[in-house]
Amino acid sequence: MSAADPLQYHSTRGGVPAVPISQAIAAGLAPDGGLYVPERLPTLDPAAFDPHGSLVDTAATLLMPFFAGDALADELPAICAEAFTFDAPLRALPAHPATLMLELFHGPTSAFKDFGARFLAACLRRLPRGDARPLTILVATSGDTGAAVAAAFHRQPNVNVVILYPDGLVSPRQAHQLGCFGDNVTALRVAGRFDDCQRMVKAALNDASLQAQRPLSSANSISLGRLLPQMSYYAHAALGWWREHGTPLNFVVPTGNLGNALACLWVRELGLPVGEVRLACNANATLPDYFAGAEYAPRDAIATLANAMDVGAPSNFERLRWTFPDEAHLRRLLRVQSVDDATIRRTLADHARAHGEVFCPHTATAMHLLDQLRADGDAAPWAVVGTAHPAKFESVVEPLVGHPVEVPAALAAMLARDTRAEPLAASDTTLRDWLMLS
Ligand SMILES: *Cc1c(COP(=O)(O)O)cnc(C)c1O
Repeated sequence: MSAADPLQYHSTRGGVPAVPISQAIAAGLAPDGGLYVPERLPTLDPAAFDPHGSLVDTAATLLMPFFAGDALADELPAICAEAFTFDAPLRALPAHPATLMLELFHGPTSAFKDFGARFLAACLRRLPRGDARPLTILVATSGDTGAAVAAAFHRQPNVNVVILYPDGLVSPRQAHQLGCFGDNVTALRVAGRFDDCQRMVKAALNDASLQAQRPLSSANSISLGRLLPQMSYYAHAALGWWREHGTPLNFVVPTGNLGNALACLWVRELGLPVGEVRLACNANATLPDYFAGAEYAPRDAIATLANAMDVGAPSNFERLRWTFPDEAHLRRLLRVQSVDDATIRRTLADHARAHGEVFCPHTATAMHLLDQLRADGDAAPWAVVGTAHPAKFESVVEPLVGHPVEVPAALAAMLARDTRAEPLAASDTTLRDWLMLS
């Protein structure tokens, strides 16, 4: 095919016709239950990027081959500018001369989910819907996704957001944030676990008679509209490092559903200077076990201090297998390690004491992997990916570091607002009834 042909997107399960990217973004999940992937990953030349460009410029150059020829292509620079109103700085840490942190928590809800949620919202705003009734976006969240999606769609005309989160299983500040929006956003605290929330959302989305009454959509992490923009900060950081030092940059990524990590791996597949990639999981060891040689065995999630990574069945695993179809090659390519709660606690306390640095519990899993590499004598440049601001998890972090964590302005503003969440029993009919009546 020629370079001018627009890239088409098909399902990881291969059961549906290929579609242009705007249709894949509008749909979220492919109709056969698979995940949308491009028919091939394009190749990019590092020299094609403006050496003085901002994150927005890098994102527009990076993503253009994915959108070229599509209805959204002309709008792509505006979409990137609207979504990425905050930076993703690469900061040198005092722990070691070659240790850096890619800080992804400077958005409105202080976690990296803001990049994907805002990009998806900016795309959906521009896509025709063919239904004049308001669209209700359902989000099941283990903590950070719900707030990012709510913030991205807050006060948008003709859109409602309904968030389901497991009552008592998100941090107190996460809960406050989820309930503080009001207007077109409703928070439902479900008497159950994250898996229950996810099952209730899926049941509602698959309920044709409910959909006929009330058009529903989802904004979960399997949407290409959330995955693709996450490549931008890896590309921007790696290109900046490469221009200055002439070497690729290695990354350690805290991982749950594999969305953030896959974005990093895809940037390397595009031909940009990303070096080695290591993944840090919490005690949920589905991926670590697989990479240690076991059969892939999804399981129920267990609760940990890094709650946004409490995932037993990583939803992007299908995309990882699509990207690296040779299993032996995939297992050689990636190192994935499990980090338990005791180690998270120790890592947070050690870095606060030795270097005055404070991380969120998710970021601490990645920091632990790098601590081990340094202890083994590795002196290469590594960026630990900082996925959330520690102030979101102050009830875990502050007792370990022994002092209050400064609260970013956006989070402080949300915490100053009233918060409200309606209780809901964990069953498919309760959500159906709620949606019919509200
Ligand atoms: C969502 C999240 C993760 C996990 O990201 P995945 O893309 O699901 O792997 C890690 N840390 C934080 C703070 C998160 O919110």
